[in-house]
Amino acid sequence: PENMTFVVNAVYLAVAILFILGLKAMSSPVTARKGIMQAGVGMILATAITFLYPNHEGSGLLFFGPGKTINLILTVAAIAIGGGVAWWLGKVVKMTDMPQMVAVYNGMGGGAAALIAAVEFARVTSERGGSLGPIVATLAVLGALIGSVAFAGSIIAFLKLQGIMKKTWRLPAQNLVNMVLALAAVVLGVTIVLLSANASSNPLLIVALVVFFVLSLFLGVILTSPIGGADMPVVISLLNAFTGLAVGFEGYVLGNPALVIAGIVVGASGTLLTQLMAKAMNRPITNVIFTPITGEAQAGGGEIAGSMKELSGMDAAAMMRYAEKVIIIPGYGMAVAGAQHKVWELTKLLEEAGVTVKFAIHPVAGRMPGHMNVLLAEAGVPYDMIFDLEEINDEFPTTDVALVIGANDVVNPVARTDKGSPIYGMPILDADRAQSCIVIKRGKGAGYSGIENALFYAENTSMLYGSAQQAVAEIITAVKTLI
Ligand code: NDP
Repeated sequence: PENMTFVVNAVYLAVAILFILGLKAMSSPVTARKGIMQAGVGMILATAITFLYPNHEGSGLLFFGPGKTINLILTVAAIAIGGGVAWWLGKVVKMTDMPQMVAVYNGMGGGAAALIAAVEFARVTSERGGSLGPIVATLAVLGALIGSVAFAGSIIAFLKLQGIMKKTWRLPAQNLVNMVLALAAVVLGVTIVLLSANASSNPLLIVALVVFFVLSLFLGVILTSPIGGADMPVVISLLNAFTGLAVGFEGYVLGNPALVIAGIVVGASGTLLTQLMAKAMNRPITNVIFTPITGEAQAGGGEIAGSMKELSGMDAAAMMRYAEKVIIIPGYGMAVAGAQHKVWELTKLLEEAGVTVKFAIHPVAGRMPGHMNVLLAEAGVPYDMIFDLEEINDEFPTTDVALVIGANDVVNPVARTDKGSPIYGMPILDADRAQSCIVIKRGKGAGYSGIENALFYAENTSMLYGSAQQAVAEIITAVKTLI
């Protein structure tokens, strides 16, 4: 009925507004929670209206009607299982495991988009036959290709972040293989579009579809496998943009406005984030994909002169207590140790003692964009104490102490000096330019990119060994005796 169409479309419009407002609010840590709630409400509305009226013309025929009960049961079961697992995982996931979870969820989005295409084509090739029309078929194929790549790539990203897949491997002539496979996928895609124009149970179409999906998944695997070192964040963000694009295409195929909008929003913001990250890493996105950091490059990078000097918690406390300005650089190790609350406690003590304390956040510190901001916000650090790389880097030479807590790659000066280094060219936080630098880490462990850090051997650097939480607690105890 006409009234229903109006209601359904009005809900989709509300969904669009909620998504966009939500995304806008997520751009600042102050309003991010509100943004997540808004987008979440939008998603619930979108799911509910699609469930009740799968077709935006307002006829809910997919679930309700003669012989549709099985669809209803399957869909409710899928929503219950998927929603239940996600709810539970969201509750139990450790903050440090968040990036892996994001990678998995992102992969699920891409996979779901690819499955929509698979189902649509399955419908065409079924006994009932039918056709998709050239535009819909083209978008379905594109969505399937991009979605499969995002799915398989995200699984590889998950395995790497989880530490299950430790090695990056490259095929000989990798770029050529990639190109040939991508070309083959495109040719198959075009074939599928042509065949699906009038295709009742065409066996050729079925074969083409199966090969196409296998190929697309494999492409996702081999595109992501060689990428390692410090490039992972850019890739995750790129895969996220892919998922958005795939979802948008499949939304068009299904005629579902909520999917189209969600897809466009994710695709666009993912693309922007990818660009920002690539810029922050000083690596053009084509470099990340086509000339990934390889084993040989990692082996390059000359010997580092000097030795590491250890200091005690008491020494560290004294240096900072009597400093005028301290800049704290948190990294992945702070996240692992969950030391953010202790770090904030130390900060307050130092401020009470008259020391100016600032936080410097590298765009790829930790294991996901905004990782450090989230942790510091959780601990209650006010936003006006937190600075981005370009805002604060000039201040290091006038800073008495740079306190590096579980960060490594993001403060490695070889990025400036060593052309052979895999992180060469990445802007770093200039901790080495502070008057003195204190580094908290457990031992001689390397950072994510697996290379030695020249900062640790520098003249003005001292190492405080220990897990971040316990090391900072030690400093706190010592500072208290000095106030
Ligand atoms: P790194 O991974 O370079 O280094 C972390 C350091 O923390 C290690 O050297 C480790 O040394 C130390 N550490 C580990 N556990 C603890 C602990 N419990 N207490 C104290 N120290 C600890 O971290 P950064 O944040 O400097 O750099 C991030 C890296 O991750 C970059 O290479 C980035 O490209 C990559 N990456 C970033 C993503 C993002 O989106 N932000 C996503 C994927 C990768 P030790 O073992 O000796 O303690």
